[in-house]
Amino acid sequence: MRIAYLDRTVHETDGEPKPNGDVSAISKSIDLQGSVETGDKTTIASKDFGGLYSIKPLALIKPAGSDDISRAIKAASRIPRMTVAARGNGHSINGQAMTNGGLVIDMRSTEENHFRLLNINGSFFIDVSGGALWENVLTRCVSRFGLAPRSWTDYLSLTVGGTLSNAGVSGQAFRYGPQISNVTELEIVIGKGDITVCSETRNPELFFGSLGGLGQFGIITRARVKLQPAPDMVRWIRVVYTEFDEFTRDAEFLVSRDDGESFDYVEGFVFCNNDDPVNGWPAVPLDPVHGFNPGIIPQTGASVLYCLEVAFHYQKGDHPSTVDKAVAGLLKRLRFVEGLKSQVDLSYVEFLLRVKRAEEQAKANGIWDAPHPWLNLFISKSNIVDFDQTVFKKMVKDGIGGPMLIYPLMRSKWDNRTSVALPDSEIFYLVALLRFVSRGPSVEESVAQNREIVEWCIKEGLDFKLYLPHYQSKEGWKRHFGDQWTRFVERKASFDPMAILAPGQNIFKRTHLS
Ligand code: FAD
Repeated sequence: MRIAYLDRTVHETDGEPKPNGDVSAISKSIDLQGSVETGDKTTIASKDFGGLYSIKPLALIKPAGSDDISRAIKAASRIPRMTVAARGNGHSINGQAMTNGGLVIDMRSTEENHFRLLNINGSFFIDVSGGALWENVLTRCVSRFGLAPRSWTDYLSLTVGGTLSNAGVSGQAFRYGPQISNVTELEIVIGKGDITVCSETRNPELFFGSLGGLGQFGIITRARVKLQPAPDMVRWIRVVYTEFDEFTRDAEFLVSRDDGESFDYVEGFVFCNNDDPVNGWPAVPLDPVHGFNPGIIPQTGASVLYCLEVAFHYQKGDHPSTVDKAVAGLLKRLRFVEGLKSQVDLSYVEFLLRVKRAEEQAKANGIWDAPHPWLNLFISKSNIVDFDQTVFKKMVKDGIGGPMLIYPLMRSKWDNRTSVALPDSEIFYLVALLRFVSRGPSVEESVAQNREIVEWCIKEGLDFKLYLPHYQSKEGWKRHFGDQWTRFVERKASFDPMAILAPGQNIFKRTHLS
C-alpha cells in the first residue's frame, strides 16, 4: 500500500517523472529510518565534480542502512521509468552518479554502519561501508590497528563503493592490482531489493559483475578489504626524463620487478618544457626550497618532458643509511637526467593524503570548484609511443591547466572475471588528463579536445579503453565492452528485474548506460 504515496509524488510530464515536493510522503511511502530531501537544482545530487551537467532528481535519500536502501529500491521498481542512482561522494565527471527525475541514494549517510577488523587464517581484513571515504578508512586503520589497505587511488575523498564500481588505481596497482583486486566480500542491495552477500565462492556472478560494474548491479553497502601492516614513513622521489622511450623503459622495468626488488609506488606525468606554473617546470619539485633548475635539461628542443614519480616505504626505526642505500640501489638502474631529482620524506598517511593538501590549496585559490572535463584512458604498451607523439607532443603540448598523468599497470594483477574493460596487452598505461578549466582552455575547448583524442585513438585502431567510461549510445557501450558485452548484459539482467521486464529501462539509472 505504501507505494501508492510514492506513486502520487510522481507526475509524468514529457516522459520524465517530476517531483511534487512532498518529501514526507516519499519518506513515509518507503518507510525510511533515514531522511529524504526533495531534489531540486540546489541539492548536491544535481551536480558532480565534473561540473559539466546539472539535473533535477526526484529526491535525495539519505538511508540509515541497507534496509532503507532495499525499501527504496523495491518502491522505485514498481514505478514505471523510475530510476535509482547510488551517489558516493559525487566525484564522477560525466554524471555517472546522477539521475534526472529519479531517486539518488546518498551513500555518505551510511559511513558509520560498518567498521570491523577481521583476522581470517592469519590475514587481516576490514569490513567497511560502501559509503565510507577511503581517507577515513586509512586514518582509522592506521591509528587503531597499524594496518592499511594495500591499493589506493591518488585522492582519497572518494567512497569505497564509488571506486569499487570503477577499479581504483594508483601507484601501488602494479604490485597489488587495482582496489577491485583487493576485496574478498561485498554486501549488495540488488535490483530486486534483496540484501545479498557475495564473494568469489558465494554468488560469484554478482561479486565479479559489481567490481568495476559502474553501479549497474546493485548498491554496495559493505566491502571486505585486504589489509597489510602500514609502514611508518615514505621517501617520495621525482626524477626527470627528456626521452619518452627512456621514461617508459624505466617505468616498465620498475613495475615488472618482483616484490621487494622495486619501489612501493610507481607513477609518472608529462610536463611542459617551460615555466608554466601549472604544467611546466614548477610542477616537478617536491621540495619548493630547492626548485627546478632548467639549465640542466639537455637542449633537445623537446616541447614536453617526463617525470617518473616513485616512493619507498620504511619504518621509523630503520637507520637512515639503510634507507639511503636501498633507494640508491634502485635509482642507479634508472636513466633520468642527472641532477633533476627531487625528494621528501613524510609519514605514510601524509603521503597517501598528498592530494588532499593540493585540494586545500586549490580551494583557497578558488580553482577546485571549476569544471573538470577530465579524460582517463587505459592504453596498450604497443600504442603508447604513438600516443606520446600525437597527443602529448602535439595536441596538449601547451598544457591543459592540470596534471597529465601516465604510468604503467600490469594486466595480470587484474581479474578477468570483473566487469572492467581493459586493453589486451600485459602492460598498459593509465593516461589521465586532469583539466581544471579555470586555469586552462575553456570547457568547450577541453571537451572538444578530449573528443578529438578519443576519435584519433579509434581512427588509428589503438588498443585502448576509457577508464570511468561514459557513452551516450548503446553502440559506444558495445564497442567499449567488446567480447564482454553479452556477459555484462546477462549478469545485469539476472540481478535487476527491470532489466528483464523493460529492456532499456533499467532501475539503476543510466543516462550513460541507456
Ligand atoms: P560517485 O562519483 O558518487 O559514483 C561513481 C559511480 O559509482 C556511479 O556510477 C555511482 O552510481 C556508483 N556508485 C557510487 N557508490 C556506489 C555504491 N555504494 N554501490 C554501487 N555503486 C555506487 N580514480 C582512480 O581510480 N584513481 C585515482 O587516483 C583517482 N583520483 C581521483 C582524483 C580526484 C580529485 C577525483 C575527483 C577523482 C579521482 N578518481 C580516481 C576517480 C574516482 O575513482 C571515480 O570518479 C569514483 O567513481 C568517484 O568516487 P565517488 O565515491 O565520488 O563516486
